[in-house]
Amino acid sequence: MRQILLVEGSNMFGRLAKAKIEKFFDIPVFWTKTLAETEKLLAMAKGNFSMALLDFDLPDAPNGEVIDRVIAEGITTFVFTAELNDEVRNSVWSKKVADYILKEDPNSIDYIIAAMRQLAENQESLVLVVGDSADYRTLVSELLYVRKFRVLNATDGKSALEILSQHPEVKLVITDFVMPGMDGCTLCQKIREKYRHDRLAIIGFAAKNEGNIGARFIKSGANDFIIRQSFLVEEFYCRVNHCMETLSLIGKIREGANRDFLTGLYSRRYFFDAGSELLRRCRESGERLACIMLDIDFFKKVNDTFGHDVGDLVIKNMARMLREDSGNRDIVARIGGEEFCILSPGGTKREVVARFEKLRRKIKETPATKLQDKRPLFISTSIGICSEIGDSLERMMKIADECLYKAKEGGRNRVEAWEPLGNN
Ligand code: GH3
Ligand code: MG
Ligand code: MG
Repeated sequence: MRQILLVEGSNMFGRLAKAKIEKFFDIPVFWTKTLAETEKLLAMAKGNFSMALLDFDLPDAPNGEVIDRVIAEGITTFVFTAELNDEVRNSVWSKKVADYILKEDPNSIDYIIAAMRQLAENQESLVLVVGDSADYRTLVSELLYVRKFRVLNATDGKSALEILSQHPEVKLVITDFVMPGMDGCTLCQKIREKYRHDRLAIIGFAAKNEGNIGARFIKSGANDFIIRQSFLVEEFYCRVNHCMETLSLIGKIREGANRDFLTGLYSRRYFFDAGSELLRRCRESGERLACIMLDIDFFKKVNDTFGHDVGDLVIKNMARMLREDSGNRDIVARIGGEEFCILSPGGTKREVVARFEKLRRKIKETPATKLQDKRPLFISTSIGICSEIGDSLERMMKIADECLYKAKEGGRNRVEAWEPLGNN
């Protein structure tokens, strides 16, 4: 986000809005009080503003004239209004503003901050608009652009399905009902065969509410529907936001379930799901895959001597070192108290053993935490490696675990790998 333009005639509201927004986003807010001042600032600082908050009623521009001026610069615009009759509301929406906010509402500035944050998130979200009417596609796409969504278009159901398979990151599909070849409800059903509600939202669009079209859309797998006959921009945005919020909440819940609370590494459960999938892909492509088990030595003694809190710090530090050491395709999980498992694709046995031998040494030489008297605490780890891809994840983990056991038996602070070195 670049700088923010605030055009607000009232001293009290302006000062409050500027302070709150600057504090939250940590970027400068430029505040003007009239249309004339705004014109001057825009002439001097062209292209500096990514967002603007405008007062509908200014001393030298009482009817929202400043809005046209700012939107002409391509700046995403929010509008503050003191009153909201239908005339003001229609006038604001017809100018393609991102949203309007009622000034009297005590939460108005918090609302605007939330809305601005949402826009930043929308830039990451891809929406697919499906329909053979160019008129419909333009209407929907333009509204989405105002809210900073990235948009793809498809003219019928068949091409929509193709685009979805090429762009699995699409979060929302908005589909018209009447289309050649496949109607909107059939498209919803086809989409739902592959993409569930937790990954992708669908909004159905129909000209009129005839033949229970809304219910048919929902029964076919759509999250919601919009009827063009009674179309309201505000309602459209609410429905789109609702879909995006639901997806985002599901994403957060999933992320929470997949992560270990103490370390932020992947949880044991996620490790089995994602690990099996990685194994399948590596087997298919003939790529190598190694499974590495790592366990802190004499960890019980750390707890017993220095307390559980120090033990926790040691585990967290261990997780940080593993994260720093891992490549972006590695899956690193905490699978037990002080036990970690890593799946790492690509490397030869020699490379994997060398990597973890180096890591073992680094762990031994780096203080795991500082004790209360500031003395450093050092720990060591034992590591078992299965560097041959196996039929199942369980089998690879068992082999790595046996190697880990051997490393413990052999005196700890060492790496053991399956099969003697030199085969690869
Ligand atoms: P070895 O060298 O054979 O691995 O010995 P060890 O003491 O590390 O092994 P053991 O499995 O006997 O002990 C692991 C200990 O880790 C026991 C348990 O109390 C502790 N532990 C498990 N989870 C946590 C945790 O989240 N925090 C802390 N502080 N300790 C934990
Ligand atoms: Mg241990
Ligand atoms: Mg253990």
